[in-house]
Amino acid sequence: MKYLDEYRDPVAAQRLLEEIRKTSTRCWTLMEVCGGQTHSLLRHGIAAELEGIVELIHGPGCPVCVTSQADIDFACELAQREDMILASFGDMLRVPGSERSLLDVRTAGGQVQVVYSPLDAVRLAQKNPQRQIVFFAVGFETTAPATALAVRQAERDGVQNFSLLVSHVRVQPAMESLVEAPDHRVQAFLAAGHVCTVMGYESYESFVERYQLPVVVTGFEPLDLLEGILACVRQLEQGQARLENCYARAVQAAGNRAARDLVQEIYQINDRAWRGFGVIHRGGLELRPEWSHFDARLRFEKSELPVLENDACRSYDVMTGQLKPTDCPEFGKRCSPDSPLGAPMVSSEGACAAYYRYGVPADNTT
Ligand code: SF4
Repeated sequence: MKYLDEYRDPVAAQRLLEEIRKTSTRCWTLMEVCGGQTHSLLRHGIAAELEGIVELIHGPGCPVCVTSQADIDFACELAQREDMILASFGDMLRVPGSERSLLDVRTAGGQVQVVYSPLDAVRLAQKNPQRQIVFFAVGFETTAPATALAVRQAERDGVQNFSLLVSHVRVQPAMESLVEAPDHRVQAFLAAGHVCTVMGYESYESFVERYQLPVVVTGFEPLDLLEGILACVRQLEQGQARLENCYARAVQAAGNRAARDLVQEIYQINDRAWRGFGVIHRGGLELRPEWSHFDARLRFEKSELPVLENDACRSYDVMTGQLKPTDCPEFGKRCSPDSPLGAPMVSSEGACAAYYRYGVPADNTT
């Protein structure tokens, strides 16, 4: 298979659906970790096709959704400083902070610049030497290499008015935290293929051994997802718990060595607050001490204002598979993409946004 269309071939998809139906003797509960997979499962109707055969619950793999509210509040504060430009990926702009979003700040005259890569933020700093440029570094291990590269580039070019508000998070500790909860419902995981492209999947060996849950590395196209689901169902039916890679065209066991080395050079693992989850042990990345001169948290003062969570938002329950987005009392009422109460309704990878976008009704969702 060489071309994208081949991964959307309806005949092959029907064959795989049939195979899953034939293999499954009961309804299994699988969690797809990544929000991109959630959108693909809904957009292509896979979740609906497998209703009653496989229940797909949606995991915490939406970086915009789990970026801590304290970090969003700090980003809003920074963007209001006269000597500052806050550079961010566009999908962070509408995520609600305690009192406002970055979009609100920009509308009120704050300096928020959308960039498409961290290196754009370095160039922005070079073009605006009279201003401080802070890049809001959000994302999983997939985006960490690019922000690490920006740090290295800024160091090489002597860019002193550039820094990062690092909010990178790590997927596997969140999966561990999720299955440590006594009421978790996950029977197998579809692991996020893009994270594994960078980090590999060797570290899942110990996870599988410890928790005795199948983990199948899975891509994002319909056939990728269906093959991943079939592999999970086969293992579950045979009473097995193994690590499998169903995304071999992109993922190798050791991942991308150059990207991993770069992340290792610039970042170290830390405990990280995840929005809705609280602090996850080893759940994030921070700059190593030798790169701390690029750390916006150390360079700029933060106010002591409290973080005000919106109690009406049930994002934790949604991102741990305890609640379908459509079962949130605010879904489609006070909370919509035009007027989001929580991050999962904002992000292009958010589960609530996916249900809203693909019109999933409350009575036939999985
Ligand atoms: S529908 Fe809105 S309020 Fe409810 S969990 Fe999703 S984002 Fe939060």
